[in-house]
Amino acid sequence: MLCFGAGSPEPKRAARALHEADPELEKWCRISLGELGLTSLARKVRVGWNPRMRTTAGRAWWPDAMIEMNPRLKDISEEEIQRTLCHELAHLVAYERAGRRRIKAHGVEWQVACADLGIPGEKASHELPFEGRKQQRKYAYHCNHCEEVIERVRKMRGSAACYTCCRKYAGGSYDERFLLVERKL
Ligand SMILES: [Zn+2]
Ligand SMILES: [Zn+2]
Repeated sequence: MLCFGAGSPEPKRAARALHEADPELEKWCRISLGELGLTSLARKVRVGWNPRMRTTAGRAWWPDAMIEMNPRLKDISEEEIQRTLCHELAHLVAYERAGRRRIKAHGVEWQVACADLGIPGEKASHELPFEGRKQQRKYAYHCNHCEEVIERVRKMRGSAACYTCCRKYAGGSYDERFLLVERKL
């Protein structure tokens, strides 16, 4: 996940602007969070479809408690929608449980949350499963802070910082401390 700074190719966008809310998916999240005893998160969680997403299947925003889903999932399958929703909700569950403790985006806390939500052994990837035309990723970017590695098909222009760390330690603003560093794949 990325947090873009000045001069980046992607437009700077407000994290809180939810595109097309989906009350049904939201309801499912609320019920699941209630079952896990996370009542405050259950009240806050929001889910919507973002038509500007391209190859990313889903995104979870913390501490906004917001999940963005790629509308192309609707062309794939119900199962893929559900699995992506679980994957993203697991991120929110892991951060909620961790509180102020620092955790890795796809670390053990997230894996436990995936199992709790019914998708044990879930993969760390956020890419859409496009049948037969999976593009080879050529570039990798590393966050020295949380150790997350982000893989890309294209080289990133401008500077980008780790979304997870910017969210957790810089109030969501671009922060050079969490600059992503290119490394060999
Ligand atoms: Zn993830
Ligand atoms: Zn990081």
